[in-house]
Amino acid sequence: VDIIWAPQREKYIKSVAMSRGKCFLCEVVKQKNDKKNFVLKRGRSVFCILNRYPYNAGHLMVAPFSHLSDLDKLPEATFKELFQLTKEMTRLLSGVLKPDGFNIGINLGKVAGAGVPGHLHIHIVPRWNGDTNFMPVVAKTKIVGHSLSKLYNTLSKEIG
Ligand SMILES: [Zn+2]
Repeated sequence: VDIIWAPQREKYIKSVAMSRGKCFLCEVVKQKNDKKNFVLKRGRSVFCILNRYPYNAGHLMVAPFSHLSDLDKLPEATFKELFQLTKEMTRLLSGVLKPDGFNIGINLGKVAGAGVPGHLHIHIVPRWNGDTNFMPVVAKTKIVGHSLSKLYNTLSKEIG
């Protein structure tokens, strides 16, 4: 049962992300207000951010700083760092949230349900046994800013 990439959710995310015609990932990179934007880590060419509209608790996104849509266009070093940070963040979530598994994936292009079609990003979604049953509820309640801040602080502390 793979309801996790439900396109109707992405539509909502997109409407938020693309409001005023701006790419929210580029905005976050530019703003350098990482605490407010829930940016967990900046690397040399990639960064990791908490998803404000998570499918599940601990839903992270890893993206390059550059506004690139294709894997083909990523410089080799960025490609490498993208997956290194994905690995690192998955390990972090494993330790903190103790999930039973993960969905890690990239939606390339609108047809695949990419919420921000122009800016490549990898989703890291922790999964717990049986969570598909209450995921829509979880997704709604987790939008509450307070719990996101709490999770952000916990994960930030672990990163050090
Ligand atoms: Zn962008």
